[in-house]
Order: sequence, then C-alpha cells, then structure tokens
Amino acid sequence: MSVPLLDLTPQYESIQEDVDAAIARVVRSQGFVLGPEVEALESEVADYLGVAHAVGCASGTDALLLPLRALDLAPGDEVIVPAFTFFATAGAVWNAGLKPVFCDVDPVTFNVTRETVEEAWTQRTRAVIPVHLFGQMAPMSELEALAGERDAVVLEDAAQSIGARQRTTSGDDWVFAGAAGWAGAFSFFPTKNLGAFGDGGLVSTSDPEVAERVAKLRVHGGRQMYHHEMVGTNSRLDALQAAVLRVKLPYLEEWARERRANAAFYDEALRNIDQIVLPRTMEGNFHVFNQYTIRAERRDELRGHLGDLGIGSGVYYPVPLHMQPCFAELSGSAGDLPAVERACEEVLSLPVFPGLGEGRMERVADAIRQFFRS
Ligand SMILES: *Cc1c(COP(=O)(O)O)cnc(C)c1O
Repeated sequence: MSVPLLDLTPQYESIQEDVDAAIARVVRSQGFVLGPEVEALESEVADYLGVAHAVGCASGTDALLLPLRALDLAPGDEVIVPAFTFFATAGAVWNAGLKPVFCDVDPVTFNVTRETVEEAWTQRTRAVIPVHLFGQMAPMSELEALAGERDAVVLEDAAQSIGARQRTTSGDDWVFAGAAGWAGAFSFFPTKNLGAFGDGGLVSTSDPEVAERVAKLRVHGGRQMYHHEMVGTNSRLDALQAAVLRVKLPYLEEWARERRANAAFYDEALRNIDQIVLPRTMEGNFHVFNQYTIRAERRDELRGHLGDLGIGSGVYYPVPLHMQPCFAELSGSAGDLPAVERACEEVLSLPVFPGLGEGRMERVADAIRQFFRS
C-alpha cells in the first residue's frame, strides 16, 4: 500500500457533480476573466474571513506583491520576512523594489515572533510579513502591537492557512488568518487547503483604500479601461477558478476538521519516538494543518526509508532564504539565523490530506517506528 504525500482525487470525487456543473456554467456564459463568479467568490471569502474586502488575483505570489506595491514605498525600504518560508514571500518583496530583511523563527512553531522581528528591525523597516506556516498563525496581536508602535504595517502571508484562527486578546472571540493585520495574502494553488484547478490568489483587507488600490493594480492600474492612474500589471483571477473555489469553500471547515483529526491521530501514534519532535499547536490557536511537519534526527535517511516503502513526504524547506544564491548581495551567511538553519535540516512533512484514512496513517507511523528501531 503506497501513501502519497497528497492525493486530491478523493476530494474531487466527493464534489464532482457540483464542480462539473459550475465549470459548465462558466463555459456556457463565455465570461472567463473576473466578472460575476469572481465577485461572488470575493464576497463569500470576505464573509468567511470576517473582513470588509477581498480582491482576487492571479496567484498567492501576486497577493503578496500587489499590497506591497499599493503601499507606494521608496526603493530600498525594508520589509521583514522569515527566512523559513516558501520563496514567494521574499521574492514578492524584491519584485516590489523593496529590500527583504530576513528574521529567525520560533523553533517550536517555525513562525516569527515579536522578538525575532524586533531583532531585524531598522530605521528603514516599513512592513513585516509574518508567514502563518503549515496552517498555524504567527502571534498576530504581538506583531500588530509592535508594528503599530513603529508605524509599519503587517501583511499576513496566509497562503497555507486559510481558515486558521486565533483567540483575540480578550479571549472571547476568534480572528481569522488574513483578518488580523493590515492585509492578508492567500493562495489557491491546488495543494493549499482551498485549492483551485490551477493558479489563483486573493488579498484580504478591511481598509477600503487598500482594496481599491489592489483592485486597480491587478488590471494595469486603472479601473476604467485605458485610463491608468498607476502602473499595475495583469493579475486577474479566472472565472473558472472562482467557480471551482465557490463549490469548495463551503467544505473548507469540514476538510480542516479532517486535517486536524489526522494530526491528532499522528500525535498519538508517534508520541513515544524519542528521535522526532511533533508539531505543537500554541494556546489559543486553531491549526488547519496544511502540513503535518515533524522534526527528525537523520531526516534525509528517514525520508529515503519512507520513499523505499512507497510513502510520500516533503521537506519544506531545505534551504534558508538568507542563504539562497539570488540573495547573495544581501550578505546573509550560515550561522546568522540558527533556528531557521536547524529547521531546514530537520523538518519532514507527512501526508495529512483529507481522505487519507487511518490505515494509511498507521502505515506511515509503523514505517517511522521501524526506522528508528533498526
Ligand atoms: C504557496 C505559497 C505562496 C505563493 O502562492 P502561489 O499561489 O504559489 O503564488 C506564498 N507564500 C507561502 C507561504 C506559500 O506557501
């Protein structure tokens, strides 16, 4: 019995009729770019997140880039990003003409903290991009407080964390990923918790001016055709993607519950293995487990062993961003960010997708146990 890291077939099969009908509806309408399907998705996602505005765009990468462009900062202004994230977080900063400044992460959650961000702060810091990695939010109230004190904004990279939430400071309410900062960036890449049938992204914000600017920037900087107040780009969301996402959105909570149940299964099945560290959900957090990521001794050997048994796993991420060749001119070097560098050597993500089933998780757990016994 092989176990893939991710298999989206059972999900598709469970909603096939509705998805196929939604696609047919768009095809019949012959309206393929933006339009009513995208507007409907934007308003449904805004309601779900509890924000005033959502603006669809072409990818999660653009969902980071467009709000950064909307800030209208000076070239060389700095944006603090974790060095342990998908490349797009830092790439978007660079492509906005700004300087990514890398910070360390909390070794337990792999997320930035107020302290790690503060260490990277300079006179030129204008924004911070906490990444809500693997499905759990970074400590937003602390980050918002820090940025507020220093007149900077917090752009949440919520690409992996749609549906994740956190108790508010008073503790009686939840605030969703993408609703806690100045703006939030989401990805609908197929492997994310809400995945399209191709690329797609969305910016969330409760600031009407930011929403307006992002909506202009995604269509070459003008809401009226052939009149351009800013230089934007083409970052439109397709109606076909929006139609698929609208079918999936009502199932998102159920799929998150299943991911959480799968995580709980592994927590129990793997708890007595000394050579690994299990992911931890911090108090007041609702983790949506886009990834179930352990730390392991002899990680690469373990991964090879799993692969030999037909079990998929992933290393997110093997190389710290401050050590990527393309950022050499920022002069990062080994030893700068110890928690990030250690994470890159130890992390291993296991299959956790909805529809995985206990039999296959048992097999994954057995294989890990067997590896450390031998
Ligand atoms: C996937 C991802 C992105 C980029 O999203 P795309 O839709 O692939 O452009 C950005 N940040 C993080 C943390 C991601 O996981």
